[in-house]
Amino acid sequence: MDRQQEFVLRTVEERDIRFIRLWFTDVLGVLKSVAVAPAELESAFTEGIGFDGSSIEGLARVYESDMIAKPDPTTFQILPWRGETHGTARMFCDILTPDGEPSLADTRNVLKRTLARASDMGFTFYTHPEVEFYLFESLRTDGPLQPVDQAGYFDHVARGSAHDFRRAAISMLESMGISVEFSHHEAGPGQNEIDLRYADALTTADNLMTFRTVVKEVALEQGVFASFMPKPLSDEPGSGMHSHLSLFEGDSNAFHEAGTQYELSKTARQFMAGLLHHAAEITAVTNQYVNSYKRLWGGAEAPSFVCWGHNNRSALVRVPMYKPGKDNSSRVEFRAVDSAANPYLAYAVLLAAGLSGIENDMELPDPTEDVVWDLTPSERRALGIRSLPQDLDEAITIMEQSELVAETLGEHVFDYFLKNKKREWDEYRGQVTPFELKRFLPVL
Ligand code: GLU
Ligand code: MG
Ligand code: MG
Repeated sequence: MDRQQEFVLRTVEERDIRFIRLWFTDVLGVLKSVAVAPAELESAFTEGIGFDGSSIEGLARVYESDMIAKPDPTTFQILPWRGETHGTARMFCDILTPDGEPSLADTRNVLKRTLARASDMGFTFYTHPEVEFYLFESLRTDGPLQPVDQAGYFDHVARGSAHDFRRAAISMLESMGISVEFSHHEAGPGQNEIDLRYADALTTADNLMTFRTVVKEVALEQGVFASFMPKPLSDEPGSGMHSHLSLFEGDSNAFHEAGTQYELSKTARQFMAGLLHHAAEITAVTNQYVNSYKRLWGGAEAPSFVCWGHNNRSALVRVPMYKPGKDNSSRVEFRAVDSAANPYLAYAVLLAAGLSGIENDMELPDPTEDVVWDLTPSERRALGIRSLPQDLDEAITIMEQSELVAETLGEHVFDYFLKNKKREWDEYRGQVTPFELKRFLPVL
């Protein structure tokens, strides 16, 4: 028993915790949970808890369905929405095979492996996500969705529920040790954004899994429905999860260098070059659903083209304004990721793409300060600006050829992911949609 594990056991006793939920994430980024009694904790720490992985998306092949979940004591938190007495807590788990090896299907481990590569190069990877989501009156799939308000960007909704909602969600997050930096109403009706304070990427990914649960819980409590779907309303903005990225060497920000263009170091420029170079091949991971492409190609400040700029909101990679004296805040913002991505996989491929830029000494192209959506295709061609994939099918086709994504995800996750996404595309392509019936039935 190490000190962290002892701390968990003591807290469980002192705080009257009756259930400990062991959390882990499937390949698509869906949170899974198994509850254990306090009496099981000690053996959960030493041996892990066995479970059948074969019915969980992407976790195991049928012939190796026995899996072990081993809780990470540093992630212990009490779940505030379960009440004070007879409480419930949670810990994130690493998934192991029956012989105790890290499971190749565990996406948390995919990120850990990639972070270890960065660490070998002397870097820690920090991320800070801006999470957008919608609040609807209720969950319905058979008629028009009703957003909870008609407000817009930064609106202060008088007596609106969004305010109370954000306050409740943020207090809950803070009580679980997750710091929130900003929150505001977003541009769409019922659309909100909450930005988490930067943390190392593994902590951020764990925090995002908690964040989604908290937002859903608070919505239920308030009688509304929260959705992280990338584009729930055709004529309104989608929900992105812009992510600010930086590398640190020890205590100092490796992206900062005084006196250069935008105060960016060579490392930052190479990292950005890597992001741009690999952008198309990682898109299936950062934007994993057929619906994701309706956001990417629906305008409304979602990026469709591969370029970077300084404060250019049409660019895929944006360099936020440098604040004098805040050297450690130097970072780059990657704007394609959406709120429905598996955060472990998304941060793994973003990091891998950036590291590849550093390892291969990639040259950063010139910034684009034009609004790229307004350029003609030939103007974009002349500037060397390529497109992101237009739909899931194109994204899968490009990802299939990607050595970088195959290496980063590992063979098991890579194959499973592609198979799952091809099936999604085939099912989607087979649908006759309301659009087609409305457009064609009356005239054909
Ligand atoms: N909702 C936009 C997107 O899907 C982003 C708006 C913003 O710049 O925050 O990426
Ligand atoms: Mg936003
Ligand atoms: Mg942003």
